[in-house]
Amino acid sequence: MNCPQCDHNETKVIETRMGKDSSSIKRRRQCLQCEHRFNTLESIIREELLVLKRNGKKELFNREKILGGILMATEKCPVDIKQLKNLAEEVADSLESQYDSEIPSLKIGEAIMDRLKKIDQIAYVRFASVYKDFRNISEMAQEISSLTPPDNE
Ligand SMILES: [Zn+2]
Repeated sequence: MNCPQCDHNETKVIETRMGKDSSSIKRRRQCLQCEHRFNTLESIIREELLVLKRNGKKELFNREKILGGILMATEKCPVDIKQLKNLAEEVADSLESQYDSEIPSLKIGEAIMDRLKKIDQIAYVRFASVYKDFRNISEMAQEISSLTPPDNE
């Protein structure tokens, strides 16, 4: 990075500080030629994650949409909203670490279902009915019968 004063290309770092969030770093630098001091800000650039939908279209990966989808599916189920928020976070985190550029939309549904199954089975079946595109009722019945009954009943 060249000095903004004299355009010299050698500087030394005299101070390094964490930015507002932990994903950026501020550095105070000094030009080795004219001794001018200036600040630089370094931050991580994430490549845009895209969702590859079943119809072949792509859209930007949106963490909030995950929670939105879960909330919609579980609207009338007695599930703790905090639990669902955590679930959505977990799903988004794991997808972001698993995929670099494109996530097939089915994988998002699967990741949500895997976790939802452990929280609330009715919510799971509702969600699954949307995401798995059940072709008929018997397929859905199969899915339901494959669930283990909850321990507290
Ligand atoms: Zn300079």
